[in-house]
Amino acid sequence: MDAMKKVLITGAGGFIGHHLVNRLKADGFWVRGADVKYPEYEPSAADEFKILDLKGWDNCLIATRKVDQVYNLAADMGGIGYITANHADIARSNILINAHMLEASRLNGVSRFLFSSSACVYPQYKQKSADVTPLREEDAYPADPERGYGWEKLFTEELCRYYYGDYEFETRIARFHNVYGPLGTYEGGKENAPSAISRKVARASDECAIEIWGDGEQTRSFMYVDDCVEGLVRLMASDYREPLNLGTDRLVSINKLVDLISDIAGKRLIKRHDLHKPQGVRGRNSDNTRLNKILDWEPSVPLETGLELTYRWIESELRKAHRIPLKYSSQTAD
Ligand code: NAD
Repeated sequence: MDAMKKVLITGAGGFIGHHLVNRLKADGFWVRGADVKYPEYEPSAADEFKILDLKGWDNCLIATRKVDQVYNLAADMGGIGYITANHADIARSNILINAHMLEASRLNGVSRFLFSSSACVYPQYKQKSADVTPLREEDAYPADPERGYGWEKLFTEELCRYYYGDYEFETRIARFHNVYGPLGTYEGGKENAPSAISRKVARASDECAIEIWGDGEQTRSFMYVDDCVEGLVRLMASDYREPLNLGTDRLVSINKLVDLISDIAGKRLIKRHDLHKPQGVRGRNSDNTRLNKILDWEPSVPLETGLELTYRWIESELRKAHRIPLKYSSQTAD
């Protein structure tokens, strides 16, 4: 590891970016963070933090000045409710951020650029069953990704390939599968399922009902944020330029996730399923064969351990704000 390397992390005010800043600082890197906002829950450890809207070309030039490596995590994103309701805004914002960040990084002589892609690039026709076959990297084509967000991620993966093909500009591409952990958004519409469920469980009185989107039998795999950050650091250091899954391969239903979090909280709760809410694809899992081979590693934090840390953090945030427990038992916790 080169202790003097200068690194830019975009999206450093967000969930994964903030954890990555902490990790790279601990590893001895000089770190610049860039985002439209500062981290919400604790100050950034970055050596320099620039408030910049990276949709703008000039701002991307400023952000990428005099750095060796770029972890490009900035994106307009959220949970399934958010990404299915904002196709145009998400696709437009993210294509501007990614196209400008790639070109500005190249012009400023950045040596490596890591793009945070998503399992949302995988075709919907391969994700119709809860008992889904884990997705291999080559399954992304023929393409039929998530509308808006998934198409943009898939196109930027292509753009990364073109940048190597035309300019030999070194890019790395991680396809994240459902990252969760403390210090992430847990309300407001942009939160992911583990955070939303943790909030609902924390706010519910024992034997109260909580609302679950869909019938709860939809399945996913979940990766704790420390594993995500470890995978990013390893991928950046590798010589692998093709897209790589970054997730766990333990498939669980949303109902099971609710049960695990309820057990952690020590509460017995009733699930009230709302079939009108979006649930995304029916099932999605990561095939980690290539991840193991390329990085000689795979995520290892057990779901129960990661959920305990996540739940306890969200519960303590809500407690600080005097928002738990709810004393009514006949209502649904939101
Ligand atoms: P996040 O929303 O917490 O962080 C993204 C950050 O990007 C936010 O702080 C946001 O303010 C910033 N941003 C948005 N628009 C910007 C702009 N115009 N200029 C500058 N900054 C801007 O999300 P996250 O979970 O930390 O995700 C990080 C990356 O990982 C994103 O690219 C996301 O698409 C990808 N990803 C995340 C997951 C997951 O499960 N969390 C899954 C797949 C992919």
